[in-house]
Amino acid sequence: MTDNVVYWNGAFLPDSQARLPLLTHALHYGTGVFEGIRAYHDERTGEVLLFRALDHFRRMAHNVTLLNIDLPHPPEALVGIAADLIRRNDFRTDVYVRPLAFKSGARIGVTLPAEDSFAMIAVPLGDYLDTRKGLHCGVSSWRRVQDNAIPGRGKICGAYVNSALAAQEARDRGFDEAIMLNEAGHVAEGSAMNLFLVRDGRLVTPDVASGILEGITRDSVMTLSCDAMGVHTSERVVERTELYVADEIFLCGTAAQIAPVTRVDGRIVGTGKPGPITLELQEQYGRAVRRRLPRYVSWTEPVYGPAAERATLATA
Ligand code: PMP
Repeated sequence: MTDNVVYWNGAFLPDSQARLPLLTHALHYGTGVFEGIRAYHDERTGEVLLFRALDHFRRMAHNVTLLNIDLPHPPEALVGIAADLIRRNDFRTDVYVRPLAFKSGARIGVTLPAEDSFAMIAVPLGDYLDTRKGLHCGVSSWRRVQDNAIPGRGKICGAYVNSALAAQEARDRGFDEAIMLNEAGHVAEGSAMNLFLVRDGRLVTPDVASGILEGITRDSVMTLSCDAMGVHTSERVVERTELYVADEIFLCGTAAQIAPVTRVDGRIVGTGKPGPITLELQEQYGRAVRRRLPRYVSWTEPVYGPAAERATLATA
């Protein structure tokens, strides 16, 4: 295994040198908050582009307050560290960046101890879900965690037991991915991705009170569909059977990107092929992440260009 450079409590070092005591609080009780950020390699320019990294770190800065964790730096500085991490690993491919802030007190006891740690890891990552063929999803028997149990919007480590149970159950039943309902029986999201459906030419997605993570890709989709395609989204309660009568369905997330769903619980969605709105959105999203839509250039941060120059100036 390659020994990538990681960022660990204020220093860059080889992964093999980052050590944790086995009593680390977050390992036992799930008391951490993480993010998932993609950086895209642009073959035309050779550049690697972080996508909406500032928005991810801003979300993280909000989420850590749920667990009384302090981030070591403001969001803007964390974007710089993410870029630096990619450069130090000399990645020239699509990359996934995983920041993790967690309770690191090393003793028994379930409260929220004062000691916090912060790590950032970067790994090359291609497709997480198949974005071409059309996924076959199943409604999970596991309900999405409730806001007043473990807040799903918080990207809290422990909450991902809920996602893991649903995703594994889906695989074990022969599905590609799970669709989770909330305790009210309404559609929430996939195991680690938001969900959209198309009905009569309009986009519909579960509202923020349906037990979802307020996804950044979800926001990109709503922005791009409105600006570039004139298609509006209604954020509202979505009933389970709307999945069966939708014209199109797709899942979206940083890792998943935009992944068409062509069957739910064995029922064919629309024509059984990825639909026109989903395909157009994939196209627009693919352009946005590679800095090819002038209107959204501010969503991307070049890792080897201006960011590298700034870092050099700062250390000169
Ligand atoms: N829902 C959950 C539960 C997730 O873990 C993710 C991935 N972060 C998403 C939705 C999609 O969010 P984003 O677009 O911000 O990656």
